[in-house]
Amino acid sequence: VVELEDVRKSFGSLEVLKGVSFSVERGQVAALIGQSGSGKSTALRCMDRLETIQGGRLTVCGHALHEPGVKLSDLRRDVGIVFQGYNLFPHLTVAQNVMLAPRLVRKMSKAQAKDRAEQVLARVGLAEKLGAYPEQLSGGQQQRVAIARGLAMEPKLMLFDEVTSALDPQLTGEVLRVIEQLASEGMTMVLVTHEMEFARRVADRIVYMHLGKVHESGGPEILTRPATPELARFLEAA
Ligand code: ATP
Ligand code: MG
Repeated sequence: VVELEDVRKSFGSLEVLKGVSFSVERGQVAALIGQSGSGKSTALRCMDRLETIQGGRLTVCGHALHEPGVKLSDLRRDVGIVFQGYNLFPHLTVAQNVMLAPRLVRKMSKAQAKDRAEQVLARVGLAEKLGAYPEQLSGGQQQRVAIARGLAMEPKLMLFDEVTSALDPQLTGEVLRVIEQLASEGMTMVLVTHEMEFARRVADRIVYMHLGKVHESGGPEILTRPATPELARFLEAA
């Protein structure tokens, strides 16, 4: 579903991705871990074409993002992305926030989009909050609305960038349970996370980024028995 081959990305003279390669198969969960500034968010953003790559090959859900003429609307149907900040529209209700993209991008009728919103909000445990406004929700609930909004497009791939880092431990648990549920339903996901226990439990594949490259990758066992001193040191500090 996702394949990066020697992907390169610079911001001005700063080379952030220095030839990143890894792949994620359908139904797999990959966790991107690594120090601050190692390029995790940049790699994730490239997968949704929020950043364009400058070298290498990047294929996401069949879309070759290294080639010109990518249809962004087609890509965005296939890929849902959730960030640390929830980016909900404060003047819209929970249901309206979730209905927006299906209405605009999928051209669904209002009734269809409402049905879909009810269905995905139930999946994240917020069926009773349809009519609430974001400010009336806890941070964990807002983050679950943001996940529901991604799911409403029925994506083939979900990308998560540190979706729990702004939350206290209890709210973090609520959000991680939703992601774990999605994993058990077979959703393909790439998650950037600092939650090592969670990564160990949920991820099929761990990708450790260091200085703009994949320094070590493998199954969750690398979190217990890292092969490189850099990953060992990172895990000790985490
Ligand atoms: P963190 O764990 O802190 O979120 P990260 O691994 O996600 O870190 P990135 O956000 O990918 O790191 O950033 C990698 C490097 O690229 C950093 O040095 C950052 O300052 C730089 N960078 C990211 N986005 C931009 C941008 N739009 N313009 C210039 N530099 C950027
Ligand atoms: Mg980041």
